[in-house]
Amino acid sequence: MIKYHGKQVYEGIAIGKLYWHHHGKKDIKKRAVIDIAGELERLEYAVSTADEQLRCLYEKTVKEAGEEQALIFEIHRMMLEDADYLNAIKEMITEGVNAEYAVFSAEKQFVTLFAAMDDVYMKERAVDIQDISQRLIDLLSDSCGQEIHTTEPVVLLAEDITPSEIISLNREQILALITRKGSVNSHAAILAKGKNLPMMVNAQIPNPVELDGKLVIADCFEGEIYVEPEKAVVLEMSRRKELWNKKQQELLRLKGKNNITKDGRSIKIYANIGNEKEVSDAIFADAGGIGLFRSEYLYMDRTQPPSEEEQFQSYKSVLEQMPGKRVVIRTVDIGADKQVPYLLNETEQNPALGCRGIRLCFEKPDILMTQLRAIYRSSFYGNVAMMFPMVISVEEVKILKKMAKDAKEQLTEEGFECNDVPIGIMIETPAAALLSERLAKEADFFSIGTNDLIQYTLAIDRQNSHMEDYYNEVHPAVLQLIEMTVQNAHKAGIEVSICGELAGDIMLTKQFIDMGVNELSVPPVAVLKVRKAVIES
Ligand code: PEP
Ligand code: MG
Repeated sequence: MIKYHGKQVYEGIAIGKLYWHHHGKKDIKKRAVIDIAGELERLEYAVSTADEQLRCLYEKTVKEAGEEQALIFEIHRMMLEDADYLNAIKEMITEGVNAEYAVFSAEKQFVTLFAAMDDVYMKERAVDIQDISQRLIDLLSDSCGQEIHTTEPVVLLAEDITPSEIISLNREQILALITRKGSVNSHAAILAKGKNLPMMVNAQIPNPVELDGKLVIADCFEGEIYVEPEKAVVLEMSRRKELWNKKQQELLRLKGKNNITKDGRSIKIYANIGNEKEVSDAIFADAGGIGLFRSEYLYMDRTQPPSEEEQFQSYKSVLEQMPGKRVVIRTVDIGADKQVPYLLNETEQNPALGCRGIRLCFEKPDILMTQLRAIYRSSFYGNVAMMFPMVISVEEVKILKKMAKDAKEQLTEEGFECNDVPIGIMIETPAAALLSERLAKEADFFSIGTNDLIQYTLAIDRQNSHMEDYYNEVHPAVLQLIEMTVQNAHKAGIEVSICGELAGDIMLTKQFIDMGVNELSVPPVAVLKVRKAVIES
């Protein structure tokens, strides 16, 4: 038995075969596909994303090294449009083969063709074919959920994982997720919690390929990975797993109970979701509402933004599933690790400090207007509210409110029935917390995004695993900013929620209640745990 270590992200114990998910050529397996249209759509997505990546690379290289150096990326873009190459791939897919393998085969065919040419220039194009094919394969492999084909659920080991990959994972196939890189505070980690998926990051596994197919135990409480465990270890871990399941079952008894502290204070406990499918988890957990709908996930894994109608249907579906209950839609927060290539034009050096959240909306107002119209249209179907991410000034809020007003007026003129929608602000930058007294006069409510508030207050990249020791959630500066925000909100007569991961930390529940926080919004799986902590406070 060998034991490796990792960092715990989300608790749980998984026992099963390990599946090493490796992006790259070596792993390209031929697989029969039935959904040919779906496979062609995946190819189309990969081609357009590759094109966008190459365009950005071209522009960046022109700026940094000049036109001559950048030319190669234009050549790659042209090759990506080559009808013969693309048709060869599409033909194979149409015959019922997976897109990765089709690209891999076309690459082999074209490399041989170019390599055999007499013309030196044409000969060299063989390398370019390899290059663009690898780019396509990498992009296709990004949807790792679609690539995992196992006969039984597995412990998935990957180098790293992006938010959009987590979204595409088939939860039923995965017992636990382990990554060799990654950070505890990333959006990928938040999404894993949302999926109730035990997870560890930073696993110190030197030779992952050797573990492929072996029986492992992922102890995501302690951050331990046991490879080919001895019988006694399997028995002990199974016992602990059972105990954990029992505890979870016991929590279910709190369903239907009120969130009232010992001294009679009532706290709202809401759920955070990323799409309309997760509402069922929130309902199952007896959440009082949705305190954070991370709408940006609707924009991922596609080639263009969701239309007004698509968004409207999604918001309406959430509202109808939660009749009378408050649903807070956070307007799109793309940027940083939530990459949406078709909307982000430039590769930034510091994306967390770059064009993120409302900043992207100011650059592309159509994106926000479409979303605002969809939110107002959905207001007819339930108790919806909206909030804006990454605010740093009062002026920004005034502009955003004006845009919201315009959207509502447009719709009314067009004959839609819509209600007033409360407008909140996320307090997730130190600037917003420090200006909270003034911002409170402009907002209907505050929601404190502690994940970013910690990152920006402490100047610690939440994505950087090497900096995790500095990412101190209970740093006095952070707690002071939270307390100040709550006080300023109450002074102005508005409510304040915490929707960052800290809201689910039951060691802090009492402290937050004492500060006067009105609502805690947590992943659905944490709702009952927090209810218990409130009742015991
Ligand atoms: C936060 O920053 O705490 C938050 C809730 O937003 P996100 O994690 O989506 O950035
Ligand atoms: Mg945030």
